[in-house]
Amino acid sequence: MAFENIELWWVTGAQLLYGGDAVVKVDAHSKEMVEGLNASGVLPIKVVYKGTANSSREVEAVMKEANNDPRCVGVITWMHTFSPAKMWIHGLQQLRKPLLHFHTQYNAEIPWETMDMDFMNLNQSAHGDREFGHICARLNVRRKVVVGHWKDKAVLEKIAVWSRVAAAWADAQDMLVIRFGDQMNNVAVTDGDKVAAEMQLGYHVDYCPVSELMEYHKKVADEDVQALFDIYLSTYDFDPAIADASTPEHRSVWNAAKAELALRACLRDKGAKAFTTNFDDLGTDDINDPHFEGFDQIPGLASQRLMAEGYGFGAEGDWKSAALYRTLWVMNQGLPGGCSFLEDYTLNFDGNESSILQAHMLEICPLIAENKPRLEVHFLGIGIRKALTARLVFTSNPGQGITATIVDMGNRFRLIVNDVECLKSKPLPKLPVASALWKPMPDFATGAGAWILAGGTHHSCFSYAITSEYWDDYAEMAGIEMLHIDKDTTIENFKKEMRLNEVYYMLKK
Ligand code: MN
Repeated sequence: MAFENIELWWVTGAQLLYGGDAVVKVDAHSKEMVEGLNASGVLPIKVVYKGTANSSREVEAVMKEANNDPRCVGVITWMHTFSPAKMWIHGLQQLRKPLLHFHTQYNAEIPWETMDMDFMNLNQSAHGDREFGHICARLNVRRKVVVGHWKDKAVLEKIAVWSRVAAAWADAQDMLVIRFGDQMNNVAVTDGDKVAAEMQLGYHVDYCPVSELMEYHKKVADEDVQALFDIYLSTYDFDPAIADASTPEHRSVWNAAKAELALRACLRDKGAKAFTTNFDDLGTDDINDPHFEGFDQIPGLASQRLMAEGYGFGAEGDWKSAALYRTLWVMNQGLPGGCSFLEDYTLNFDGNESSILQAHMLEICPLIAENKPRLEVHFLGIGIRKALTARLVFTSNPGQGITATIVDMGNRFRLIVNDVECLKSKPLPKLPVASALWKPMPDFATGAGAWILAGGTHHSCFSYAITSEYWDDYAEMAGIEMLHIDKDTTIENFKKEMRLNEVYYMLKK
């Protein structure tokens, strides 16, 4: 559903030098190309042809229209011929939506025997797109350049990647992140400048007192709790004690369902797309108080299930991870394999197979589970309440994946991305939480070392289907630094890249 009711706009750069007839043909070619893109089945978002732009006035008009139409999440430009690029200056200066410059051509192979000047006038993007590229470079316009024939599936895949990122970017521009409780005290890496985040990344971060959330908790009806409780038992495997109404396990799952309903109602009322929790702030402190209204422990099961629904989540007040997870979830829609918020939990030294266990106290998204998750209730002794609490327990699929985080460097946001290889993980009978296990690329020592040198968090947002190309497109749209740790990374080069970036962002400011 994340890609319904949104559009990409296609604008063809042209001019009247070759006469109106040529433009009529270019217009017909453009329509055919856009129809081809839409019929390819590769693009997740509909492309809408907005005609040829033949003058500075027409360029400016269509760019302003793109800015003001909420359905438009990005603009694709193609210069069929020399579209003198001074006419793009005013329009490009105003464009506020992501731009993709498609260097393609209506015709595929040169018809050597029949090619004449009329053919040339209709197939001149070889130089037309260079003129356009020059003005984008001169104006420092952030964009993606995709090169290749418009019928080539591999080329369309690149546009599809950008489309998904453009949709997630549009989604982030009116994202509200709600923090239930503040940051976990003293933690540096999950904090940052919320004003700068709104200016640069689009989303807004608000605080909601847990006492306000408890007003929703009070109003949750018992029959709604029972209905959700029944959904749990029909969706997941579970410990038999949970079904027995006389057990503390049953009570704990009941409380978890009530917490989930309260959280969802509050987030819906506020129009929030992401949230954070903090295990030190769970409502009325004294559970012996006759007016007690609070969670019995952190609402971990709720966070797991809300993440699967698409709500961004960050633990311990980590609003940057909450927002990034929501963005990842939007990009990931319809792709094979899920995504999750994860935390670097513990190290497994094993020579070349050394790896990092990824887990959290409770909050891992069941979208990455390799089998049906199991609903379990166990004691959790951290935070202001030490109590039994419900959670979904599972291991995750082996395979290739990628994880990402954003940190605030003071003068800029830095996106750190690491390709990872997920290994077969094992159940943890004495630590019953969901988990994944991975080797960071290019190897454990270099991957973890580079991440640490870059100042990356212990929290990150992981996906199986996303590649670094998605994150590169995201960093380009946001105008933020990106460091990618992959199979070719060496610590020596990584340090050089960070030093160069330091100078670049100092001068850019
Ligand atoms: Mn954490």
